[in-house]
Amino acid sequence: MTKWVYTFGDGAADGRADMKNLLGGKGANLAEMASLGLPVPPGLTITTEVCTHYYDNKHQYPTELTAQVDAAITAIEKSLGAVFGDKSNPLLVSVRSGARVSMPGMMDTVLNLGLNDETVLGLAANSGNARFAWDSYRRFIQMYSDVVLGVDHYHFEELIEIHKEELGVDLDTELGADDWRVLSGKFKAKTEEELGQPFPQDAREQLWGAIGAVFGSWRIERARVYRKLNNIPEAWGTAVNVQAMVFGNMGDTSATGVAFTRDPSTGENEFYGEYLIDAQGEDVVAGIRTPQNLTKRAREAAGATAPSMEESMPEVYGQLADVFAKLEKHYRDMQDIEFTVQRGKLWMLQTRAGKRTAKAALKIAVDMAENGLIDEKTAVLRVEPGALDQLLHPTLDPDAPRDIYTRGLPASPGAAAGAAVFDADEAEAWAKDGKDVILCRVETSPEDIHGMHAARGVLTARGGMTSHAAVVARGMGRPCVSGAGQLRIDGKAGVMTCMGREINKGDLITIDGATGEVMVGAVRTLQPELSGDFAKLMTWADRYRKLRVRTNADTPMDTEVAREFGAEGIGLCRTEHMFFEGERIIAVRQMILAEDLAGRKAALEKLLPMQRSDFVEIFKIMRGLPVTIRLLDPPLHEFLPREESEFEDVAAAIGADAATLKRRAADLHEFNPMLGHRGCRLGITYPEIYEMQARSIFEAAIAVEAETGETVVPEIMVPLVATEKELAILRVRIEAMAEAVFAETGKQVDYMIGTMIELPRAAICAHQIANAADFFSFGTNDLTQTAIGISRDDAARFLDQYVRDDIFAQDPFVSIDQDGVGELVKLGVERGRSTKADLKLGICGEHGGDPASVEFCHIAGLDYVSCSPFRVPIARLAAAQAAINHK
Ligand code: ADP
Ligand code: MG
Ligand code: MG
Repeated sequence: MTKWVYTFGDGAADGRADMKNLLGGKGANLAEMASLGLPVPPGLTITTEVCTHYYDNKHQYPTELTAQVDAAITAIEKSLGAVFGDKSNPLLVSVRSGARVSMPGMMDTVLNLGLNDETVLGLAANSGNARFAWDSYRRFIQMYSDVVLGVDHYHFEELIEIHKEELGVDLDTELGADDWRVLSGKFKAKTEEELGQPFPQDAREQLWGAIGAVFGSWRIERARVYRKLNNIPEAWGTAVNVQAMVFGNMGDTSATGVAFTRDPSTGENEFYGEYLIDAQGEDVVAGIRTPQNLTKRAREAAGATAPSMEESMPEVYGQLADVFAKLEKHYRDMQDIEFTVQRGKLWMLQTRAGKRTAKAALKIAVDMAENGLIDEKTAVLRVEPGALDQLLHPTLDPDAPRDIYTRGLPASPGAAAGAAVFDADEAEAWAKDGKDVILCRVETSPEDIHGMHAARGVLTARGGMTSHAAVVARGMGRPCVSGAGQLRIDGKAGVMTCMGREINKGDLITIDGATGEVMVGAVRTLQPELSGDFAKLMTWADRYRKLRVRTNADTPMDTEVAREFGAEGIGLCRTEHMFFEGERIIAVRQMILAEDLAGRKAALEKLLPMQRSDFVEIFKIMRGLPVTIRLLDPPLHEFLPREESEFEDVAAAIGADAATLKRRAADLHEFNPMLGHRGCRLGITYPEIYEMQARSIFEAAIAVEAETGETVVPEIMVPLVATEKELAILRVRIEAMAEAVFAETGKQVDYMIGTMIELPRAAICAHQIANAADFFSFGTNDLTQTAIGISRDDAARFLDQYVRDDIFAQDPFVSIDQDGVGELVKLGVERGRSTKADLKLGICGEHGGDPASVEFCHIAGLDYVSCSPFRVPIARLAAAQAAINHK
């Protein structure tokens, strides 16, 4: 016969903590606490299998259920010497729902079940406290009517208010036994009026009504929506717990409370909680009365006068502290608990692993590992990698006042304050003068990059989470609020407005890229703490991970940040960003707009020393760590002048006329630039561009080796390769350039030549391409675009709905599409290595910093991931967790 009912209490239980699937979280932990010998009121758990049975069988329960429940109730009756439904000595119970994971939306708990017009008298006589008995009864009628029978609770609250008004009193506590008796009668009448049926008096009818309501609530809309949002399967079902009541509302020596065994916001090893004297159930969180602090320390810190539990009930508090210690030791984790004190005796009603902030998670994991409660491996698994993001950036001081100006999307985390400026050049100039600025633009383009770099943060009126501003800011680790739609920015006039409030150039504002809030004035920020616990956890993580973690960094500044975060090399150094800075853009434009080879070469001559000096700096900072440099990738038109004045600048620089240049620019127009004349196609058709880049790389490497004595091994990466031929041709030219530089300087460096795998054909033909490559780096941004056939820049219009409708489980640009794009990666790995067993394999692109994608890369057998500097710690931790979880 199937066991549908599990019992707990009196130091024993049928269930255990690891039976959450069957007993739900609450039931499993009640059983565990009972077995531990903690004071738990006896009870029973109806399993989640009953829920499944109920829905599979047209809302019928298994036939054996009634008998099993009855038997369990009889056991509780024996244990407590009270009888369910008995007039003189009634057993009362609570009926509590409990899914595997805590789930708002499920049925609320019903307390004091078993009371009726007769048993209430027995309760009054037995307890010697009539007020308590009638208060409990009215609570029961109120809850049961609301939760089980669907009579809205405001009806009852209204009746209480009217009654108090008639008496001329303000507080519930001023009502006595008679008042609650009268109100109980009114409550019943109200329910009958609403339903056309009397309030159920039979205890067993009440019980099955409540059990049915719990199972019924599994499928109500609220619960379904919550499950969908949190990926909880419909099939799980909920358990039902029926538990003997204990009473926190029996007078001054009784209380109810909630507590965490450590501070859930800071992680400090201090009890944290609240309690209310002479109260029941949810009173603490309901906000009817102000709860009191658990500890003296917390009370003093809060400047509160009402005594803490530590002070008012020192003995029970002592017991509670012992229970906390016992629970932590047993579960080896911070616990979130619910308790009740009945006439000086402590009862435990719930325990579970407590939710905590990222900061607390980190501190608790490290503290527990250092105290030997958990091992380092467990500590590494305890912190969610994505949550580290909160810790790596400045945050707003939670105590600082804020004046919210407007809201946008939380596009790149971190908080920053500074003067509003509306132009990238201006941002740069002000920053050079030592001012903190926030760059505010309608939207950003590649030409704003220097301004974004100089700014503390970026604010845009248009654009989504994958807009230029958002992507670039995330990459740079700059806080960004994008798409603040109510904002009107007039950059020329140097002013922005929102709902009639003006902010002028130079006015201070604050943005919070974690929430999307924009505030007037400078709100105090707190700097991240990267030493201490953070550093410790990272060291532990590094012991377990197999994947190396590199960074995508284009500037010496990014490179420096990434090294501080523990990057072990550069996986992607894009050379085009270097082209935008200052004077260079003019030389770049000169090259692009040149009529002929000679013109191009002249411009490239100017660029060579600039590129070389960037590489020199990057090689120096990386001190011998590998650096993968990608040759020019984007379509040339991205660098073209747009404004009249820009054309004139270039014309003046090269002594041509602006009209000719404009014609030439128009010739470069492409219908589909993403699939156009870019990547290695530029290298094939304009050999001199990649030759200049190769030369500057080799010259820089040789110079740095000579200067520092440290080995530099540049890895030269050719983008957008589709065929072996392309790479073979370019390889020969790069090698020739190396030989030329070596001959000129009389010095040599080791180097590698490889390619990005970012086209489906390249993944499919990886075994061929590997013939010409020393390494592959999967460029999963473009691979996602080309595999799925969607453009990242245009996807905003439909991608949200695709994710909402579950067509994509997640945004494929955020977390790698494992079924599709991921298969291409695996194919590339397999085929590439079939040609060259020691082919070095990595991934670059936003995915390198996404924990799920990092796990995928570990399983796929890559050597490293590369991500933006601020995500390096996230990748390190995710890689460690992947290695621990997939031995
Ligand atoms: P939730 O899942 O919403 O926390 P619970 O089932 O934990 O709901 O019940 C909420 C509160 O009701 C508990 O914190 C406790 O204060 C009270 N409660 C539940 N069962 C009992 C009981 N048997 N005796 C006394 N109070 C109870
Ligand atoms: Mg609870
Ligand atoms: Mg690419």
